[in-house]
Amino acid sequence: MKYNKVQNFINGRFVDSASTRSLDIHSPVDGTHLSVVPMSGADELNQAVAAAQAAFHAWSHTPIKERVQVFFRYKYLLEKHMDELAKLVSEENGKTYSESVAEIEKSVELTEFACSLPQLVTGEVLEVSRGVECRTEHAPLGVVASIVPFNFPSMVPNWTIPNAIALGNCMIMKPSEKVPLSCMRLAELLKEAGLPDGVFNVVHGDATMVEAICDHPGIQAVSFVGSTKVAKIVYQRSTAQFKRCLALGGAKNHLMVLPDAIPEMTAQNVAASMSGCAGQRCMAASAMLAVGPVDHIVSKICDEARKIVPGENLGAVISGEAKARIEKYITEAEQQGARILVDGRNARVPGKENGTYVGPTVIDYVRPEMSVAREEIFGPVISIMRTNTVDEALAIENSNPYGNAASVFTQNGGLARYIIEKASAGMIGVNVGVPVPREPFSFGGWNESKFGVGDITGKSSIEFWTKLKKSTTKWNPAAGINWMS
Ligand code: NAD
Repeated sequence: MKYNKVQNFINGRFVDSASTRSLDIHSPVDGTHLSVVPMSGADELNQAVAAAQAAFHAWSHTPIKERVQVFFRYKYLLEKHMDELAKLVSEENGKTYSESVAEIEKSVELTEFACSLPQLVTGEVLEVSRGVECRTEHAPLGVVASIVPFNFPSMVPNWTIPNAIALGNCMIMKPSEKVPLSCMRLAELLKEAGLPDGVFNVVHGDATMVEAICDHPGIQAVSFVGSTKVAKIVYQRSTAQFKRCLALGGAKNHLMVLPDAIPEMTAQNVAASMSGCAGQRCMAASAMLAVGPVDHIVSKICDEARKIVPGENLGAVISGEAKARIEKYITEAEQQGARILVDGRNARVPGKENGTYVGPTVIDYVRPEMSVAREEIFGPVISIMRTNTVDEALAIENSNPYGNAASVFTQNGGLARYIIEKASAGMIGVNVGVPVPREPFSFGGWNESKFGVGDITGKSSIEFWTKLKKSTTKWNPAAGINWMS
């Protein structure tokens, strides 16, 4: 085993879990046994919540300009340890080194945003009547929880850590049991950056721990990122306990390619979007709507896909189970009459025979009712559906239950605008394959890709992580009594 058994991080200390249940962690890159992660129990969650509650008073009464100093130092530490953090992400998640570097760079950008929060949460004040002043303040909620998925072991935790904590909350983090290591390094860096003990805590576990978090009376808000199935469970369970909840779910993102799209640029973007992070991105292009005569672009997409080589510029998928699931989707589509133009099944990387790789896969003549067209595959696979008109393409996009992202490739501004208006997704791209809004713009989908109000990053997250206090004051007796006093 390459690393020691994973520990929880409670009240500023790394502690062994008392649980006898655990899971082995293997690297998807080559099957190396990396570590063992404990499935912690309710007692450990209670300890973490108690530590966070004890830290809350002092932390929430620390002025925000002082709180963000921790995140200026944390940003510097992320940059200083970029290489080491990226290698760890690649090792436990399977993505390529350059993708992992991009993930840490995005973590830095998220932290920079949190450092700017004092500029954004100034509140409002107005003399509403002679001598009477109304004022609003953003107050932290208390102890909050963040439950995260496997596909971005650093970036997704950093969607919530800097903003929630800079805004004065104390946090319980539940990493994915598939990639628990990166989060522990983040805990070390937060401590080194000067975050007081108890403000950030990590408890490892699986569904049982998530359920305990949803039920815990000491936790005020739960943020969740993961599959739609679990997002629904977490949203229902935590709101039933009257908690605030924002639960981001899965996705099925559609790219529309119009005949006037620039062929090379479109092909490169489509191939990069469907295969980046081995297709394990909630923003990955998964379905392509080929509108009208675009064969010349489809053939370029295949050329680009063939340049993507597992183990070189394409990482592994998370597990053997994921590989089998993805390959089953491809085989089903083939059996139902779709054409496999580029086939990524049975990919093997010499010297990494225990790695779990799927090559880039382009499937053409997919029909909208097929499972590859409707379901989230979460692998480097694109399903091309042929349509005659933009409205036909929009009808397919609109009928999908998800709504994270949609993109259009065209040189026609009017049509692009029409598609921006009609697509049923929270994040839209024009000639952009992965339309992730960068800070300070917020991240969040629509429909079954998100449950709850507001977005998880950017300015929108301020509303989620704080509650408004409204005060009305009168210091001037001469103001007398008016209709509202
Ligand atoms: P997942 O839903 O299986 O797991 C996410 C978290 O939920 C993990 O911490 C896990 O321990 C926990 N969990 C798993 N099963 C549970 C259950 N039955 N009850 C309670 N908790 C449970 O997701 P994953 O496989 O780790 O991640 C991939 C999914 O995440 C994809 O669907 C992807 O689209 C989605 N995702 C969405 C976004 C977004 O912004 N919308 C971002 C990243 C990933």
